[in-house]
Amino acid sequence: MSTVGFIGLGIMGAPMSGHLVRAGHRVIGFDVAETGPRKLRKAGGETAGSIVEAVSGADVVITMLPDWPQVEAVAFGPDGVLDNVKPGALYIDMSTIRPETSKKVAEAGHTRGVRVLDAPVSGGEKGAVDGVLSIMVGGSADDVESAKPFLEAVGKTIVHVGPHGAGQMVKAANQLVVGGTYALVAEAIVLLEAAGVDAGTGLDVLAGGLAASRILDLKRKTMVERQFAPGFRIDLHHKDMGIVLAAARESEVALPMAAQVAQLLSAARQQGFGDLDHSALLKVLENLNRKASL
Ligand code: NAD
Repeated sequence: MSTVGFIGLGIMGAPMSGHLVRAGHRVIGFDVAETGPRKLRKAGGETAGSIVEAVSGADVVITMLPDWPQVEAVAFGPDGVLDNVKPGALYIDMSTIRPETSKKVAEAGHTRGVRVLDAPVSGGEKGAVDGVLSIMVGGSADDVESAKPFLEAVGKTIVHVGPHGAGQMVKAANQLVVGGTYALVAEAIVLLEAAGVDAGTGLDVLAGGLAASRILDLKRKTMVERQFAPGFRIDLHHKDMGIVLAAARESEVALPMAAQVAQLLSAARQQGFGDLDHSALLKVLENLNRKASL
């Protein structure tokens, strides 16, 4: 049994921290909001009033935060993770952020004797609740081995994909494919409905053929029914497409589909859908096809 400091108890972090409790660890959570800590206490965990309190006795620290500014705010500074965790501790950042920050945190950890990994996840809220996330891990092989018992408490597929930052790069590729798939499923629904064909029935057939995907399996019904409670918020996917486009520029490759997906997500935010699930890309496609009343 280890002591785990868990910071960021949102849609993903709350169920993930609960799994660590059930795996037998002492979990001390911290979040600036109230809902997540309440959920963790209900699951048998403890909560702290500050980052320092959550991490100072921890063998392992996990962060699950929205974006790189929050990770840097939590990792650095006199009240942050790196200055207050025990030397030798593992610090696993599971947020989806730009790879530059993952490398920066890893370098700062190295100078303090803290072993850092970037370990973003895929599988959505359902994957977090069921404890079956796919986890792409960047860092040293030895540290990944040490992290496995903790990662296995929240995930099913755990793959060491390369050095620091590589986990984030694989996650960026994942978000490109997920965003593109949602956009295409949304277009399929718009097309079927405009042609007078039942979209639910049509997508049932697609889900059994070459077009089958996890997204069709999990989301076709709620998309056709226009249920867009998050899930994974449009705002977060917009952030992820920023990571994809910056990485493409840095690597000097042209990714025209990535640009399209990024623009659709941008439009979704402009149309006021930032807090809805990313399947709400369907609303953007519907608005594109709405006749103006002149
Ligand atoms: P969320 O917004 O629900 O949770 C983030 C939590 O961090 C919030 O509870 C917030 O209060 C807390 N927080 C923010 N700043 C903080 C600070 N300085 N100190 C302590 N707590 C702070 O987001 P989420 O959906 O749980 O996503 C978390 C990360 O996981 C993101 O990077 C996201 O891209 C990634 N992700 C999400 C999903 C999903 O389906 N929701 C899937 C895969 C990956």
